[in-house]
Amino acid sequence: RQNGETKANPPGYRKHGDEHPRSTVTFKSAGFKLDTQYDRVRLSKGSNLKEYWSDFVLCKYRTRPDVDLSTVENVQQVKVVWTGDEWELHFVCKVEIDVSEAPGEKTVGVDLGINNFAALAYEDGHSELYPLNCLKQDDYYFSKRIARCDDSDSEQATRLNQKKSARRTHYFHTLSKHIVKRCVEEDVGTIVVGDLSGIREDDENDESKDWGRRGNLDLHSWAFDRFTKLLTYKAEMEGITVEEVSERDTSKSCSCCGRKRDANRVERGLYVCDECGTVANADVNGAENIRQKVSPSPATDGGDRSNGWLAQPSTFLFDKETGAFAPQERVTS
Ligand SMILES: [Zn+2]
Repeated sequence: RQNGETKANPPGYRKHGDEHPRSTVTFKSAGFKLDTQYDRVRLSKGSNLKEYWSDFVLCKYRTRPDVDLSTVENVQQVKVVWTGDEWELHFVCKVEIDVSEAPGEKTVGVDLGINNFAALAYEDGHSELYPLNCLKQDDYYFSKRIARCDDSDSEQATRLNQKKSARRTHYFHTLSKHIVKRCVEEDVGTIVVGDLSGIREDDENDESKDWGRRGNLDLHSWAFDRFTKLLTYKAEMEGITVEEVSERDTSKSCSCCGRKRDANRVERGLYVCDECGTVANADVNGAENIRQKVSPSPATDGGDRSNGWLAQPSTFLFDKETGAFAPQERVTS
């Protein structure tokens, strides 16, 4: 269990030639000494790290307000994790938690992406979108302020970067919590999430998930991995299982008739099937295909599939005033 996240910057660890290290360094019980009285942890050098670490690294940490490490009896590991913006210390410990009964047996598909951070397709056919409005505004605001700093290594720039990162973390926590709450309300027992690592490795030419070029947000794949971890953790507490499935072909196939071809049009975010006439929001179509990988029954049985039911998802936005997600029409800030 990841029980605490703290901010710290151990010096100098970086893989050779890796501009954006994504590594995690794990310290087992013999490799760290925790001092909860002074909020410090001493990390010993490992044999593989000799070149980069001195004998030990002393880290001062700050936990989230809801985490008190001094009450945790058995910290088993300390992981030093690069989040893309900064280093975090993760204290791994065993805790007893009350896990709820699964709210129901229904499934929901989740497609993570750049335009809509998350698109959800529920079993009964309704769907939800979570655009990146708040992250985009934050990014724009902080990028402008950081650009105005004289020196990108200055203390001011570092502080702004930390603030930007903290906002992002808050957004991920809030969104994953909100999605789990929605799943409880909808009697969902299984959340099916597209596994993005498969796409990166097998399908590099598929431009539908070209992270770098789509949108101006510097949101990398690690952000989605991180979000999936948060979602999994919060869902488990409610007795909901999170299954990761390959995203292969989920953006190319029609979720109504299963027709797969590259020529199916995606226009202004809509997926149009030339076989059955389905018009769906492209991200929702992807989410429904992801859902069907675990629960193959189509979202609705019979009826008119060409009425665009997948094309009209409800949109939820992050409301800065309340700090929570709310339906678009109720968000004012
Ligand atoms: Zn179709």
